[in-house]
Amino acid sequence: MAVPKQKHTKSRRNKRRMHIFLKEPTLTKCSQCGHLVLPHRVCSYCGYYKGKKVLEVLEKLDKKEKKKREKEIREKET
Ligand SMILES: [Zn+2]
Repeated sequence: MAVPKQKHTKSRRNKRRMHIFLKEPTLTKCSQCGHLVLPHRVCSYCGYYKGKKVLEVLEKLDKKEKKKREKEIREKET
């Protein structure tokens, strides 16, 4: 088994790891509702992609949340 000949310093280790971190995702605004969404992905808030409805998001919500969403979407359209 290969064994390291010399100890690497903390500085060297930390320098190696300075590029290891999570990047913030790039977000774009949904053209339908204005929520922040990942690019090239269906908006999970209104279910639209490229101006077309592709997902029925209101179906799985409870009554109260559904009413709120419907109202928001209606306000955006007018
Ligand atoms: Zn949307």
